[in-house]
This record gives sequence, C-alpha cells and structure tokens, in this order.
Amino acid sequence: MEIYLDANATTPVLPQARDAALSVMADAFGNPSSIHGSGLKARARLDEVRAIARRVLGAPAGRLLFTSGATEGIQTAVLSALTDLRRRRDAGQAIPPRLLFGATEHKAVPEALKHWNALLGLGLDVEAIPVGLDGRHDLAWLRANAPSAGLVCTMAANNETGVISDLDGIADALRGSGALWLVDGVQALGKLPLQLGERAIDYAPFSGHKLYAPKGIGMLYVREGTPFTPLLAGGGQEGALRSGTENMAGIAALGAVLDALERGGVFASLGELLDRRQRLADALRQAFPGVVFNAPFELSLPTTLNVSVPGLGAKLLLDLFDAAGLRVSGGSACGAAKAAPSYVLQAMGLPAWQAASAVRLSFGAADTEATIQEACRRLRACGEALRATCQIPAPDETPQSPELLTRFTVDGACCYVVADAASRRCAVIDPLPELTGTLAQWMRCRGLTLVAILDTHSHGDHASSAQALRDAIPEGLAQEARVESVDALGWPREAEVIALGMHRLSRLATPGHTEDAVAYLLHAGGDLVASFVGDTVMPGALGRSDFAQSAPSAFGASLKTLERNVGPEGLLLSGHDYDDRFATTLAIECAAQPLLDGVLKGRFSADAFAMEKATLERDLAPTEYQTMACGARIDCARAAERVELDVEALQAMLGQGDGPKPVLVDVREAYEARLSPTSELAPEPVPLSVLINALPRWRALPADTPVVFFCRSGNRSAQAARALRRLGHGQAWSLAGGLALWPTAQPASHFDAFAI
Ligand code: PLP
Repeated sequence: MEIYLDANATTPVLPQARDAALSVMADAFGNPSSIHGSGLKARARLDEVRAIARRVLGAPAGRLLFTSGATEGIQTAVLSALTDLRRRRDAGQAIPPRLLFGATEHKAVPEALKHWNALLGLGLDVEAIPVGLDGRHDLAWLRANAPSAGLVCTMAANNETGVISDLDGIADALRGSGALWLVDGVQALGKLPLQLGERAIDYAPFSGHKLYAPKGIGMLYVREGTPFTPLLAGGGQEGALRSGTENMAGIAALGAVLDALERGGVFASLGELLDRRQRLADALRQAFPGVVFNAPFELSLPTTLNVSVPGLGAKLLLDLFDAAGLRVSGGSACGAAKAAPSYVLQAMGLPAWQAASAVRLSFGAADTEATIQEACRRLRACGEALRATCQIPAPDETPQSPELLTRFTVDGACCYVVADAASRRCAVIDPLPELTGTLAQWMRCRGLTLVAILDTHSHGDHASSAQALRDAIPEGLAQEARVESVDALGWPREAEVIALGMHRLSRLATPGHTEDAVAYLLHAGGDLVASFVGDTVMPGALGRSDFAQSAPSAFGASLKTLERNVGPEGLLLSGHDYDDRFATTLAIECAAQPLLDGVLKGRFSADAFAMEKATLERDLAPTEYQTMACGARIDCARAAERVELDVEALQAMLGQGDGPKPVLVDVREAYEARLSPTSELAPEPVPLSVLINALPRWRALPADTPVVFFCRSGNRSAQAARALRRLGHGQAWSLAGGLALWPTAQPASHFDAFAI
C-alpha cells in the first residue's frame, strides 16, 4: 500500500471536495452567467466560495479571482505589474530598472518575469534576491535594492524546504520603495495565517491542488488599487478580469476544502503537525544515522522535511523509499544518470553534496495518524534494508558473499571492484574520490582484504583517490597494496600478476590516451573473463589523445596489442560509460567506429590513425556533466531502440505454452528487493551494479530466448535490455513502466486506505 509523502507536489482530493465537485457536475451544472434558475444556483455557489476564500485569506477587500492554478495567477500578476510599468514609461516617466525575485522562488516566477519582460519590450534587469543559509531572504540586500525595483516577488513558503519567509520583515524592507509586491502563497495556503488585507501585498496567487482540491483551480488576490491587466479576455466572466466560463466543479471542490479549513475537524492542528514532523525526523535519524536536515525546523512549515544523507545519493534514496511504498520526491529533478543539484539548496549556500542528494518528504494536514505511524515504520525498515545489504554500517554485520565484478559509477565515470569470494581478496580499479566512503563500507561489510588499488592511467580530470581509499580502510589493506609497495598506478612492484584466489589480474601497456595507460586483464584459470581498458576504448568512443600526457602516435599500436590479447569478442569494461552501455567488445566498437575498424584491419597506419583522430578531437566539448570529455565521441548513441514490453505483452509471453521460456531478471538493488519482493514473478535478482557478471551468460543463450528485465520504473531495466541487445542478444526486453505498473490490488483512494 502506498504512503504518499509528496504533498508539496500535489495532494489527493479530499472526499468532501470530490463530493462537492460531483454534486456540481450532477445537479448544479449551470453556467453562472446564465440568468435562469440553473445559472443563478451556480452563481450563488460561486459567490459563496469566494466569500469563504476571502475569510480564509483575511482579504475582505481587493479582487479575488478564480484561476486555473498558481501559474496562471503568477502570469496575471506579472503581466499586470509590467503593463503598468510600460504605461508609465510610455508616458515619459522614469521607471525603476529592475525586477527582483527570491533566489529560491518556484520557477514559475522568474520564468514569468523574463517572459513578460521580453514580450512587453521592457528590457528590465531580472535579478535574484539572495537568501541566507536558513533559506530566508537577505533583508538588508532587499532594503538597499528595492528602491530600484518595479516589482518584487517573494514566496510565502518554499516548496522544496518549507522555509517560511519573513513577510513582515520584507514588508518593512519594501516600505517607501514604490515597488509592487507579489507573494506566491501556494505552499502557505491553509498552513499559515496570511491575513492578506493587513499586509501591503499587491498580488498573491494560490493553487487548489496543493490543498486537497483538484488540479485546474486556483485563486489570485489583487489588492485594492493595485494595477491589473486581464490575461484572458473574452466573455467578461469574473467581472471581465478573467474571461472564460468558470470551472464550477473545481470552485465547488476548493470551496469544500476552504470550508473544512474554516470549520475545523478535518485538518490536524499545528501542535499535531509539529509532533508528526518530530516523529518522522526521529524515524529518519534512526534509519540513517548522520542524516542532515536542510532547513531549520523553527523557520519551516511543519509538513516539509528536506534531508540529505552522507554517502547516499538522491537516486538511491528515491529508489529505496519507492520500494518501501513511500512516495517522496527528489529535492531536485532527477535524470536517469545524474541528479541535477537543487537550485534552492544551492542558493542557500549548502555544500554541493547536500544540494545534489536532497530528498523531500512532505505530508498533508489531512493525513491520518495511522499514515504517519506507518510512514515512520517504513522509514525504519528502509534503514534496516540498507544495513542488511551492506550499504550502511550495521552493528552485527555478517560478511556477505561478493559477486566477482561490481561496478560503481559517478556521472559516467566507472570504478570496478574485482572480488574473489573464496579467498576474500579484492582489487579496486579506477577508484573515484566520490566513492571512497562507499567502497570502504562495501569492502568492510563483505570482510574483504584489499590487495590492489589500480588506476588504468593517470587521469586528466581528477587525482587518483587510491591513497584516500587506503586511509579509509587501514584494517583491510594488504601489505602489497601499501603505497611503498606499488608503482604510480598502484601495481605491486616486480609482480607479474595479482592473484585473487583462482582469479588473476595481469596488465598490458596500452599507451595512447595517456603515456602510462594500461589495460588489466582478468583471468579465471585459463579463461579471459573481462578486460579493464580504462579510456582506451569506451562504448561508442576512443579515449581522446590530445592531452599533454597523451601518446597519440602510440595509440594505433596499442589497439592492435589489445586485439591480440583480448580478441574481437572479449568483454571490455571501460573507464567511462556515458550512455549506460555497461560493456562492449572490439567487434561491436569496430562496427560503430570506422577509425578503430580502419586501424585494426590495417587500412590506417599508426600515423594516419593519429592524424585522423586529432581531427576528430579538435574543439572537443565538455561532456553533459561539464567534466572533461575523456572520449573522442565517434558514434552518437543510436536512436534508442524500443525494448519495452507492456504488461499485456509480458503476460502473453509468460502464458505461452510453446516457445522458449523467458528468463526474468530483477535489476533492482538488493535493498529495494528486500522491501518489495516480486515473489509472484520470481525473477532472478541481478542488480544493475553487478549486471556485468551475467552479460556473458545471457549472450550465450539461444537467440530466441527472451530475457525480460524489471525494475521500479522501467528506466534501469531498459538500460539493461539495451546493453544486452547491443552485445548481440536481440530478445532482450524491459517491462515498460516497471513494477510500478504491474497490476497489484490497490485501494480505490488515498483516503480509503487510511480513513480520515
Ligand atoms: N509556486 C509554488 C511555490 C509551487 O510549489 C507551485 C507548484 O509546484 C507553483 C507555484 C505552480 O503551481 P501550479 O502548478 O498550480 O500552477
């Protein structure tokens, strides 16, 4: 059952609101502009809701219009203020040169300012008001700069952090400045006593769906005498301030919510909300020792918690919570490969890791006590799942058996751990500074001895973090991995091979990307298992060789050496994998990269190859992560091949009596699978981090055997399916929409699950 903790994004619709909307649609469907009985009934309802709204907002005077939501209210307010500035300018008056908005404002505000500023041809400077570490506006800055501003926008409470603005302090800083003042009241509605009429606020937009009304209804308050320009012209509804037939179902629903607010009994009191936040915070502290709260509780809405956990990225936490049925959101927008840091937390000046790994839990004032209790229980269960799977330290760790190969990635850069389960000896290849803590915990929990920390080359964009890793796990470091025993890339001096139980690592010089580049070849007995080729060959690219430390003329010969030693089909594991392709082979890369094919087939001499490559590398742009591109991009990712199977297609595949039985694979990490097992499908668990171990096995399956990957949302499983297809298995599939769309019995509504 789902526990919804994302109320700042949107809320479920309150049963009273749903009933009010349905009753309007069924019985009182009239158009409030009609003068017959049906219309008059609708008009009466409209007036009644406006009257309740005025009372709730403390706005007996001024305009109060119904809109489609806050974004429309913001546009209307900005258009109104800027049209007035243009009128003044056109009348020959000097107008203030700037438009100011809080640095943590919802994007709707700065984007509207820029849009209308450009469209109206005003050309004013649109500037952010700085905020402090506590998320509050810098009032001294505002006081000094407000006199040069035509419009100042400051939200009442922040959607990511819950930080409540000091509206009285802002009013004071604006006094006498002449600036118009817009307050985005979206997150404050029903949570803070705004008393709009008592403040010098000119415009205040609101959104119904943040407070248990449906999407598509909002309000805009405009102070008496404040400039106004309609955004929508037409039939003259809302006193010609906002044309368009009114959304009566939405208005009635919003009315029911505001009525419930006014009457009491539905929403929890401030004291109860504070107590619930405290319990959630305690559960988070228990689950994740070291958790950091990104906004001060005493200045924030009690319903919002914004947290970061050292060593645990936002993506991991979101996957974990989702597996536990806790719906939360990233404090930032999360891409599949990289979470963009939160601009709100960045503006507050929080450390980069906190801004990049923030997660927001926001509950609603109509949530039940049972919901909060269950949320706390599941948060603790999340902590347990992480402890049980070695992600965070546990008091009674029993060593877990490692897979042979584990891959860790940071923004497209790859680090590998080779671990021999029998001897408990392991080697790390291309350690990344961001991973030091994670790797140390990972090895400690598996009772591994670290016998080598190897770099495939001296990196252009970061120093090796080998020493930091040695320092992080002194008790697990073998003598031969100590700094005095190894060369600059971490290879034990005078050793021919590194033995890891029955596995052996040997090295091969492959100068090109850098003068010192090497490949590490992993053998089990006489068989080559995989080759760690650093940035010499990457999926879709060859390592660039235009750095000061590169050896471009040696590159061609190195590729031939590599081919002699690993063959066209040997599995290559690269130092970078910008497109989540996991592994490649020389045969696959030759098909995609004419330059590589040319040098291996003898069409290019080493010199001609170096010249062609230098041409490709001219003006190489940074990667999308704004780090240095380590690969000379040669083949663009192929138009993404469709690998998705929808639920019906998979059910049909599973139901087929004839044909080969599909192999089902759950690529979620172990901590997710613990929280929500997929027992009914009984797939083989192969988390994405250890996927490379199974690739050779699946490649060897008969061509018509389907391999179907699952994950939470269909993202990671699609990566796995594409990787396997690229390696030649055409029957690799991903469950579209992930387990989130797999049919399970769900209650009809949020409120049925946890009755109010
Ligand atoms: N302002 C704030 C503070 C918000 O949180 C949101 C929604 O996320 C908006 C404005 C936009 O509201 P709507 O989606 O209703 O237009």
